[in-house]
Amino acid sequence: MPKTPRTLASICPYCGVGCGLVLETDGEKILRVSGDKNHPSNFGRLCTKGSTSAQALTHPGRMDAAYVRNRRDQDPVRTPIDQAITATAQRLQTILERDGPDALAFYVSGQMSLESQYLINKLAKGFVGTNNIESNSRLCMASAGAGYKLSLGSDAPPGSYQDFDHADLFFVTGANMADCHPILYLRMMDRVKAGARLIVVDPRRTATADKAHLFLQIKPGTDLALFNGLLHLLHRNGKTDPDFIARYTEGWDAMPAFLAAYTPEYVSHITGLAAGDIERAAQWLGEAPNFMTCWTMGLNQSTHGTWNTNAICNLHLATGQICRPGSGPFSPHRSAQRHGRTGDGLYGPRSAGTALAAGGRGAPLCRAALGCAGRPHQHPLGQGHGGSVSEDGRR
Ligand code: SF4
Repeated sequence: MPKTPRTLASICPYCGVGCGLVLETDGEKILRVSGDKNHPSNFGRLCTKGSTSAQALTHPGRMDAAYVRNRRDQDPVRTPIDQAITATAQRLQTILERDGPDALAFYVSGQMSLESQYLINKLAKGFVGTNNIESNSRLCMASAGAGYKLSLGSDAPPGSYQDFDHADLFFVTGANMADCHPILYLRMMDRVKAGARLIVVDPRRTATADKAHLFLQIKPGTDLALFNGLLHLLHRNGKTDPDFIARYTEGWDAMPAFLAAYTPEYVSHITGLAAGDIERAAQWLGEAPNFMTCWTMGLNQSTHGTWNTNAICNLHLATGQICRPGSGPFSPHRSAQRHGRTGDGLYGPRSAGTALAAGGRGAPLCRAALGCAGRPHQHPLGQGHGGSVSEDGRR
């Protein structure tokens, strides 16, 4: 039968930016991959990984069938996929009936699609009845998820990709977006070329830092002191939003006294940054009609990663820079579930059901950041702000 060339719309298999692909096939094999110009994540752009994804798909060494090992001392046997699925289900069923649900554990991946995450969680928790499901995503995102819940009551960035097209200032901290999120980085730089400011906080002079209007080369591990120092200055400079604070947050009353110690000189001593640069960053944040904070593993993978997210959310809550186009805390990640709403999949603590069962504030912050009709109900501001802070800004 002659092959019929076809063009298919698909999604890049690699990371959570979720770029749209166009696959050109000869009816059997993929011949070429290009960016989907109509896709809202990438508008035709692809990074090296996405643009070379066809090479892996068509490599002759790729396994193109299931293999089943019938006995441990035997080699796996090539098996039609339907038979392999049936055999797997039968083996799982045998274990389940013999040993109960907790005899089964599932280890899944942040690289799975949202839909497959939903299904595997449904299989594990809903059908099998085990809570034994874990993901590689915990390492990257546990602290950010906990920080979001602590501050906003829900584990999800309150912004979206469209915010990148509206922000007037990008505060990028602990993230080298040029290398690690190249497509989002290009989208951000489009906005920077159109006049938005870029502040980068990083101990290293990265490719992203090279493009910054203000580069804050901070001592490792001292981010909290900087964020508290910026909030101190925003408050001192009259750049907080008292109406927003009064209507949508709680805990602010204790903040000014807590922040009082974080003078530019004190923060300079902790972070190694020039006091003038700290003041300039605060001035720019205060002047910006809208600003976004983007951070990743530089802040998350830390003994105080939860507080880092909390302190970033505080900057946005105190200034009302949240839930409106071009503003908000936004933690970009490179696994499929780590962008956007993640609560219904992934590992246990990120499950919406788990949050509610634990008595947490499980209600979503806001249904959508763009065009969001309502403001968030409750934003505990400054939770975790108390307690002592050591010289390097750690709690
Ligand atoms: S940024 Fe991520 S989703 Fe986009 S092309 Fe690159 S690897 Fe694929």
